[in-house]
Amino acid sequence: MKITRVSTTAVRLPIPPRSYASDNAGTKREWGRLSRLSPKRPSTILEYLLVRIDTDQGTAGIGEAPVDIGFFGQTLEEVQAAIDDYLGPQIVGLDPFDREYAMHRIDYRGSSCAKSGIDLALHDLMGRTLGVPVSQLIGGSHRKRIPVAIEVAGGAPADMAKACLAYMDKGVRAFKPKIGAYPQEDVERLRAIREAVGPDVSLRADANQGYTPKEAIRLCRLAEKHHVGLELLEQPVPAWDLQGMAAVRSAVDTLIEADESCYTIHDAMQIIRHGAADVLNIKIAKAGGLYGAKKIAALAEAAGLGCVLGTGFGLGVKIAAKLHLAASTMLVTDAVEFTELGLHDNLLASPGNAALALPLDDGCLPVPDGPGFGVELDEAKVAQHAGHARN
Ligand SMILES: [Mg+2]
Repeated sequence: MKITRVSTTAVRLPIPPRSYASDNAGTKREWGRLSRLSPKRPSTILEYLLVRIDTDQGTAGIGEAPVDIGFFGQTLEEVQAAIDDYLGPQIVGLDPFDREYAMHRIDYRGSSCAKSGIDLALHDLMGRTLGVPVSQLIGGSHRKRIPVAIEVAGGAPADMAKACLAYMDKGVRAFKPKIGAYPQEDVERLRAIREAVGPDVSLRADANQGYTPKEAIRLCRLAEKHHVGLELLEQPVPAWDLQGMAAVRSAVDTLIEADESCYTIHDAMQIIRHGAADVLNIKIAKAGGLYGAKKIAALAEAAGLGCVLGTGFGLGVKIAAKLHLAASTMLVTDAVEFTELGLHDNLLASPGNAALALPLDDGCLPVPDGPGFGVELDEAKVAQHAGHARN
């Protein structure tokens, strides 16, 4: 079997203006100046690329790449050109089952989103060809249902608590609010949420690089003092400050998680060497696909760290891919982050469109059990959102 074509479709989906803002968290106001390191989203449109790999046997696999310049730092046009003009042509003519070699061929510096789209399409193609779920290709399955965590946008404490309760009505039992501005205000956000959701709900927090090391230590100490039950604090300091993150980690009991610091296997190794985190946040698009994600999980396991699968948004194919990754990776912490469920519809055909969406059944999404990722795109929905101009 040989790959004959790698092609992409750009998809742009609008989200409600306030649904993923962090205006009152992660943002500092100093002498009238607003400062915010990440994420800085320029618009309320989320952009994606669907990636299709065709073969000379008439079979095809589908992957997808998020773009999101506010987080990943690349435009849709850059990622699309990388796949269409540079990475895709490198794997045409290869056997899709020679995945390690294919990924080696396109292992240029950066372009993690482009690589992840191709990697997912290769996995879907292999699974479909063999008639097995992708989870069986990457370690099998130790669970059929995956608990879901949702990130909650920053805002006033009462509003954030209300947002969590609205999600709880849809079956969600784990949350990761966005904080990262001023520790005293942020701990009030966490207290309001804990009071609203009760003691049994998983509560993580993401500072999105917003603190200095001393602010992060203060936030953790306040959270510990007020018993908010904070499971972990994600990316308290800027991505490049591994020494600062290590200082935070050694000063507090709260688990510290690396997100923006952890893209590649080499990033993961540096975090381990610096003792900078207790937990690694693995996102398929940061790691360049399931191929890189599995390697990072192995590094974490070797170093005695934990892993969380984070949100990188998704149209449905990547939601399914994350479920297969979670099902096949023992080390992954129970709840997997699927914030995209609350932002926009998926583009899947039935039954995937309802199965991989809110409301949840007992706080979980099912791992699809069909060949490949076990989901199909709804081509009419894709056409409706394909190539939409910005507004
Ligand atoms: Mg994060």
